[in-house]
Formats: sequence, C-alpha cells, structure tokens
Amino acid sequence: MLAISSKSAAFTQHAIALKNENAALVDHMEQEVEERTQRIYELSNTDPLTGLYNRTAFSKNLSKSLAELTKSGEELALLFIDLDGFKKINDTFGHEAGDQILKASAHRLQSITRDSNLLCRWGGDEFLVALERTDREAAIHLGREIIDALSLEHKTDDAKLSVGATIGVALFPIHETCESKLIQHADTAMYYQKKSKGSSVCVFNEEMEAEHLRELKLKNGLAKAIEKEQLRLVFQPIVSPKDGAPVSFEALLRWQFGDENIPPDQFIGIAEQYGLILDIGDWVMVQACHTAAEWQRSKPLPVCVNVSVIQFQDDGFPGMVDRALSESGLAPDCLHLEITESVFASDVKLLRKRIKAIQQRGIHVSIDDFGTGYSSLSVMQDLAVDTVKIDRSFINNLEGSSYAIVTAVIHAASIMKFDVVAEGVETQAQRETLAKLGVHKLQGFYFSKPLEIDALAMYLDERLLG
Ligand code: C2E
Ligand code: MG
Ligand code: MG
Repeated sequence: MLAISSKSAAFTQHAIALKNENAALVDHMEQEVEERTQRIYELSNTDPLTGLYNRTAFSKNLSKSLAELTKSGEELALLFIDLDGFKKINDTFGHEAGDQILKASAHRLQSITRDSNLLCRWGGDEFLVALERTDREAAIHLGREIIDALSLEHKTDDAKLSVGATIGVALFPIHETCESKLIQHADTAMYYQKKSKGSSVCVFNEEMEAEHLRELKLKNGLAKAIEKEQLRLVFQPIVSPKDGAPVSFEALLRWQFGDENIPPDQFIGIAEQYGLILDIGDWVMVQACHTAAEWQRSKPLPVCVNVSVIQFQDDGFPGMVDRALSESGLAPDCLHLEITESVFASDVKLLRKRIKAIQQRGIHVSIDDFGTGYSSLSVMQDLAVDTVKIDRSFINNLEGSSYAIVTAVIHAASIMKFDVVAEGVETQAQRETLAKLGVHKLQGFYFSKPLEIDALAMYLDERLLG
C-alpha cells in the first residue's frame, strides 16, 4: 500500500512538474512568436540602415493621418528632403562614409521633428517628414531649421564631411488630398528648387507641376527620337576673319518633336539627366562624320562636334569615335570635338588623360563657351587644348568690359599656342574689332546661320567651287 501511494505521489509530482514545464514552454513560445512578429513588422516597416520608417510604413501612416485630418478639417505639411552633395561623398569617401552620413542625418531629423511616426527614409539620400497641423509659414521655418541641422559638419572615422539639403514642401489639403500625389508634389518642388539653387526650401505651385510634366513629355519623346527619325544636324560655318571664307563647320543638333521644333538648350540637359545622351551623342557623331566625309570631296574642312561632359567621360567614348571615323572614312584631323567648360567641374586627371588620348589620334579638342563657367587660363595650359571658343555673351558686350577679356585671351593664346574662335558675331563692327584683336576664327549670324543639309550643299558649291 505504502509503495503504491508513494509511487502515485511521485507520479502526481512529475505530472505537475511537466505541466509547469509545458506552461513555461508555451509562455516562451508565445513570447518568441510575439518577438518574431515584432521583428517581421520592424523588418517590413523600417529602413535597416537608419531605423526610420520605410516607404510602405510611412505611406500607410500618412494616409491614416490624412483621413483623420480630413475629419477635423486641419492642415498638414509634407517636406521632401534631399541631401546636397551626398553622391560626391559616396563616390569619393566610399559607401561606409555615406552610410554614416545617412545615419547621422536620420538622427538629426528625429531630434528636430519629434514625432517619428511621420518621418521616413524615402530612398537613397531622401527623407520625408509629415507635419500635422502645420501651415506654410511654419513648414518653411522648420524646413530651414532642418537644413541648418543637416548642414552641420559630420566627423566620420577619418574625415570631416559636410552635406547640404534641399527641401520641397506640399500642403494638405491646399495642394492635394491624396497621399501619393502629395508626396509627388513635394518631390517636384524639391527637384525644381535643386535645379535653381540648392540648400533652400521651396513650396510647391502649379507652374512647377506644368514644368515637370513638360520635362517628362520631352524625356519620353526624346527616348524615341532616334528611332522615329526626328533628329537632324544643321551646320554653321566658322570663317576666317580675313576674307570670311569657311574654315570649318559646327554640327548643331535639331529635334522636330511633332509640330514643335525643340531647341538643343531645352533638350540636351534632359538627355543628360535621364541617361539618353550617350545614344544621342553616338548618333550625332556618326551623322556628323558621314556628312563631313561627303564635303571633303569639295574641300578638306573639319567638322566640329559638341560633346556632352557625360559622353566625354564615358569609357566607351574613344572607341565610339574611332568607329565613327573608320565607318565614315573621315580623317581624324578633320574632326574637332567641342567640350563645354562644365567638364572642369569633374575629375581633371581623367579629363587630361582623355584629352590626350583623343589628341593622339589627331583629333582636335576645343573648349566651348569659354568664360561662362569653371575654366581658367591656367587650367587651359595644363590641359593643352587646341582651340578656345569665347562665349557669345562676351562678343555681345565687346564695347564694354569684354574687350579687355578678349584681349587677355588672345594674349594667352599666343603664349600657350591655342586658336581662338569668337562665337555669336552678329555685326560688321564686331567682326572688325575681333579681326583687329587677332581672333583666329569667327562664327555667327553675321556670316551665316546654321544651314540645313541642302543649304549646306549650296553654300559649299558657291564658296568652294564657284
Ligand atoms: P554652342 O555649341 O555654343 O553652339 C552655338 C550656338 O549659338 C548655336 O545654338 C548657334 O545656333 C548659336 N549661334 C551661332 N551664332 C549665333 C549668333 O550670331 N547669335 C546668336 N544669338 N546665336 C548664335 P543652338 O544650335 O541653339 O545650340 C545651343 C547649344 O546646344 C550649343 O551651344 C551646344 O552647347 C548645344 N548643342 C547643340 N548641338 C549639340 C549636340 O549635338 N550635342 C551636344 N552635347 N550639345 C549640343
Ligand atoms: Mg559648340
Ligand atoms: Mg558655344
């Protein structure tokens, strides 16, 4: 009996222990499931680098908040923040430094905006902040505070770095009531502001929207312009100041888009921005070389081709030029490349190497629009270009302060051994002054407007054969 009851007590004890163990196990499992659920929630809702909300979570929260504000009739300001100069830091100091900047920027935003529910990393170096019950003035004020905070120097492991920020603001419900459109408008305002002046705050307006839509229309049209045969080249003579005889021709791109004739100043920038310039630039090079190969039968006159900075820096560029030359049969010394001064804002070492490689082929290199941008005469010497084209804004103002500048360029040219071309010559008086100053070549409406291909043939017949 005794043995039986002690066995049963042990059994009961064991059963209770097991039950407790099971309960602990269930508790533990429940806790683990809860933690995992939380973890999954965090992973799907937060940006792993900064810990801020990601796009999905922010959009969800914003639309909830807009629904509540609609009921209460209150306002909200959405700030689209884009860092200035972040890409340069990433490219120069590496991604680790870039990550540190992003983390620190997120932290600074958190401490300014307080309500972290309506703050997110939208992507790359873009952040969004939604401010409930905030009007235009308050949004601009806070935007400026954010720019100041984000612009403070960052001390990373091995450098002191700084970035700026540009902010676009869209207001609910004035500009838009739908959450995705509100974000789009704030983005448009930021983009618009960045184009004119970074490190400032800009509030959305309808004009920006129209400009943005126009840009998208041009971008989409431009992507099909080659295939639809809407592009063509015209050629403007560059002449000798002595007798006005042509010494070369500049190829200038034209785009017939439906019934609109879009000037290059309007579409080259878009082509560069949306990655279309390489294809378009290739097309221009091939066309220009073929056309120039044709007129060589009349007289060996070079063709000058404008090359975008992006194109010039592309590793495939020298090979592309070689192909255009060999396919067309044009001699390399009959090809001049015009690069604008904006190349000087880029990697000068690469620039020097590229210019040399191009010149070694016998191709000439000109600096276009000289005086408008970054270059200086000392950089000119370093790069040893063949020609400098003085921008037409100086020729326009020849009676004013430009006279001294043109004189200085001519003087430098004689020492550094490059040719000088004056662009945009429109009057007899300008021609005479420039000839007296010793400018080597002239280009402008006074001599000829850019010529369509038929008119070019006639021009060549008249000047060279007739
Ligand atoms: P650019 O290379 O400086 O070309 C000279 C521009 O000045 C041309 O404008 C020409 O028509 C204009 N021009 C020439 N003489 C006169 C004059 O006496 N008075 C006035 N007011 N203007 C004159 P266009 O054809 O509108 O081209 C504008 C710019 O677009 C060019 O400036 C060049 O930077 C760019 N561009 C043109 N074609 C191409 C191209 O094939 N590729 C690239 N990347 N850029 C191009
Ligand atoms: Mg040019
Ligand atoms: Mg120019």
